[in-house]
Amino acid sequence: MKNLRSAPITANGLSFLVMEDDDFQRRMVVDMVRSLGATEVREADNGKQALDMLQAVNTSPVDIAICDLDMPEMDGMEFLRHLGGKSRSASVVILSALDGMLLASVENMAQAYGIKLLAVIKKPLTLAQLDALIAQYERWEGKPQQAAAAARSFTLEEVLQAVRAKQIEPYFQPKVDLETGRLTGAEALARWIHPELGVIEPGAFIGLLEQHGKIDELTFLMLEKTAAASRVLLDKGYAILLSVNLSLVSLSDTTLADRVTQVVRDAGVDPHHIILEITESAAMTDVAPALENLARLRMRGFGLSIDDYGTGYASMQQLTRVAFSELKIDQSFVKAFTVNPALRIIVESSIKMAHELRLKSVAEGVETEQELVTLKSMRCDTAQGYLISRPIDFNAFCDFLVNYNRKAAALDSRE
Ligand code: C2E
Ligand code: CA
Ligand code: CA
Repeated sequence: MKNLRSAPITANGLSFLVMEDDDFQRRMVVDMVRSLGATEVREADNGKQALDMLQAVNTSPVDIAICDLDMPEMDGMEFLRHLGGKSRSASVVILSALDGMLLASVENMAQAYGIKLLAVIKKPLTLAQLDALIAQYERWEGKPQQAAAAARSFTLEEVLQAVRAKQIEPYFQPKVDLETGRLTGAEALARWIHPELGVIEPGAFIGLLEQHGKIDELTFLMLEKTAAASRVLLDKGYAILLSVNLSLVSLSDTTLADRVTQVVRDAGVDPHHIILEITESAAMTDVAPALENLARLRMRGFGLSIDDYGTGYASMQQLTRVAFSELKIDQSFVKAFTVNPALRIIVESSIKMAHELRLKSVAEGVETEQELVTLKSMRCDTAQGYLISRPIDFNAFCDFLVNYNRKAAALDSRE
């Protein structure tokens, strides 16, 4: 228990419910939660008791419920069904000794019941796991503020004005080569630096621009700023590949490839240093001009990436005949593949397929060390995700890059 005492106080201010019929195991979990500084820990030895505690009036709400599945009287499954119907309910962590396939189906069931499922963990729970899932909880609960900015809906005029005033900035999220451990690339993600509201995430403005056929204005601003960043990195001696997102709707205009090439060359950058990521977010009608644009971009030397692989429509398959250079496995598969055998199969076969098609495989949304290690063992080429870094502004990215590769070099020389 010694290591518990030196643990960081990460659960400060949070209230927990631990539901477990085995007294010894319950004690262990309760002690761990307390050691992380939980404000309140309630205990139940079956689902019925837990549900009564959650429903009791005049008590403060539970933030995180840690639940065993196999219990007398009311088991975990029934508990989750009842909980799913509640509007303001706790986030749930399922903790069980059952095997992986069964846990995966319970996970699907919990999601179908509308449970805010934080994690499904095979017993025994470790302090590191608990710490990670509290961080995950805070990320989720932190979202409402961001969602508030997103929910403050902007008009098309406001967004266009921001684009024209160049208030949109690329934030860079690092991509790491899993074989060498080096930071070799970054994805540019649009952020609106709003003079009053601060940093606004792309969910609040990209869709609006796309719907009104105005996304190209943003695309070209992002390209211009990203190409300028690329030039700075090249001058510092860093041949980092920078990725820019391209909306599929933009591809129906056959002049696109030339305009994109021009902007990048005007910044003094060869297209080989830029990757264009394309997601299939809507069913595409104009396949022919899209194929023309993509072939031309590839010919000019741009890298082309299939973004959110596995979530798009069938027409993307027509596009896979184009010379894509990279396949990004969607984060919804990466999110839980280490505990969900079905997702693991999808991730592994996507990596295999990428290699057979001679594409680089990239896993996005990598949040845990375990995911990183597993991806490496599956021979995935590149990883991107919060585990490495969130998207950060260009100055922060430059510092991050220098430190990261210095550490990687130090590790290399020790071997
Ligand atoms: P995307 O292209 O799939 O970008 C990845 C998103 O996942 C980013 O969200 C990134 O911050 C987030 N992400 C990265 N790692 C993790 C992780 O470990 N965990 C979790 N939970 N999330 C992670 P962001 O920046 O909010 O962007 C959302 C979407 O907006 C992007 O999804 C992309 O489709 C769109 N977008 C962003 N910038 C642009 C742009 O310049 N042009 C266009 N057309 N679309 C853009
Ligand atoms: Ca992307
Ligand atoms: Ca993506």
